[in-house]
Amino acid sequence: MLAIGYNFAMAHINLNKKSFFNNLDIITQVTSAKDKIAVVLKDNAYGHGLVEMASLCQEYGIKKAVVRNQKEAYHVKDFFENILVLAEIPDTPIPNVVYTLNDINAIKLFPKNTRVEIKTDSGMHRNGVSIDQLENTFTLCREHGLHVEGVFTHHRSADELSTEWFVQEQNFKKIKEKAQEIAQNMGMKHLRFHSQNSAALFRAGECLHDMVRVGIAIYGCLDVNETLYKDKNVDSLKPVLSLHSSKLSSRILKAGERIGYGGIYEAEIDMQVGNYDVGYADGLLRNGSNNFTTPQGHKILGRISMDNVNLDCAEEEICIFDDANTYARSCGTIGYEVLTSMREYIKRSVV
Ligand SMILES: *Cc1c(COP(=O)(O)O)cnc(C)c1O
Repeated sequence: MLAIGYNFAMAHINLNKKSFFNNLDIITQVTSAKDKIAVVLKDNAYGHGLVEMASLCQEYGIKKAVVRNQKEAYHVKDFFENILVLAEIPDTPIPNVVYTLNDINAIKLFPKNTRVEIKTDSGMHRNGVSIDQLENTFTLCREHGLHVEGVFTHHRSADELSTEWFVQEQNFKKIKEKAQEIAQNMGMKHLRFHSQNSAALFRAGECLHDMVRVGIAIYGCLDVNETLYKDKNVDSLKPVLSLHSSKLSSRILKAGERIGYGGIYEAEIDMQVGNYDVGYADGLLRNGSNNFTTPQGHKILGRISMDNVNLDCAEEEICIFDDANTYARSCGTIGYEVLTSMREYIKRSVV
């Protein structure tokens, strides 16, 4: 995973194993069984490090994972019994991997004998087949020699106060009944059904189908409406990833002097400042410029540069953030974006 030439980058990421296992404990309580959990490890495990997180999942006893593409599946195939790929049609399917059929027109593009799950559109209208296309989809898959093993959908607003989440669940229930009927008529064995992401799992307070696909909650960054999720145990989830950096240089910034590109921060009094080895090229979103305070109370001063950032401190090592949602708020974005921005070459350590 390391890109040659970047091994000396002095930003590093710590992965807190205790917090991660705490999150998996909480999720297991909600689903009532480890076997119902599929961990979502797409996009380098939300920036945490794909193999590092897969290894921890295996140690905890998780058997199922969800990834984005064939390359990710290949890296984690030995850690799990069953892997679902969300978005790639493989040339050569991997035996313990099931691939998502996102569109009825894609059936002919899969190699014969590929294991597939049908993504269905229950109201998000992003991708998936409609309930009206379901029967045709099963028939075409059989004609093309694909093994249909499951049917699933995705929620667009499980964490919002509206009724949309209930409507989508209702729609999926109809899809499920229809799929079961079709499968029975075709003499197929039991299909796997699933609809819930993190927000939908905690909203329902239970696993509604055969498994759940949990991403952001395992990483401890589920950021939901407190009233809506009161008594749902989401407060006990703990962030797993923290970003750290070491000092490149330090100086006294005199009263009236300005620091960094554009000189947007000006010292009111003489002050200690330090320059640290992490920047937006490493994935530290630039919108946090002049606007974020670290967990230890140090402020980012002025603009974040490509490769470094200025703070009002001079410690050798500092923690930039230990909760992606806090950093996200200072940037006007969401924790998901902060986490997935973390570049692959940053060294990850399990602590
Ligand atoms: C990313 C993703 C998930 C996980 O969502 P979280 O909100 O992180 O729990 C689940 N299902 C699908 C299809 C996804 O793309």
